[in-house]
Amino acid sequence: MTGVVDAVCEAARNAGATRVYEVHLSIGEMTEAIPDALEFAFEVLSDQEPLLQDAQLFLTQVAPKSVCHACGEEFSHDRFHRTCPSCGSLQTELIAGRDLTIDSIEAEVPDD
Ligand SMILES: [Zn+2]
Repeated sequence: MTGVVDAVCEAARNAGATRVYEVHLSIGEMTEAIPDALEFAFEVLSDQEPLLQDAQLFLTQVAPKSVCHACGEEFSHDRFHRTCPSCGSLQTELIAGRDLTIDSIEAEVPDD
């Protein structure tokens, strides 16, 4: 979470923002990140960061997605079932759902 907060601050500073209001994150269900834990970490970290004093965190969970090496099918699944629904192969590769990404940041940018 520290990395995410750093990235948010850097993006905000680069944009010339003086305050961040909203931070929207996507978290893949295959990450070890737990939404409650993320929210808590964000609160603690944002308290130490003047830019983020008033920032609110919004989380979107992203279902994992895999591609089948046997038949090429792309499919969504939960974190425990990665068998291809089309041909039943176990030769599948995770292509989405293990990342934590910053979707957008709402910030106040003074126009001078
Ligand atoms: Zn398949």
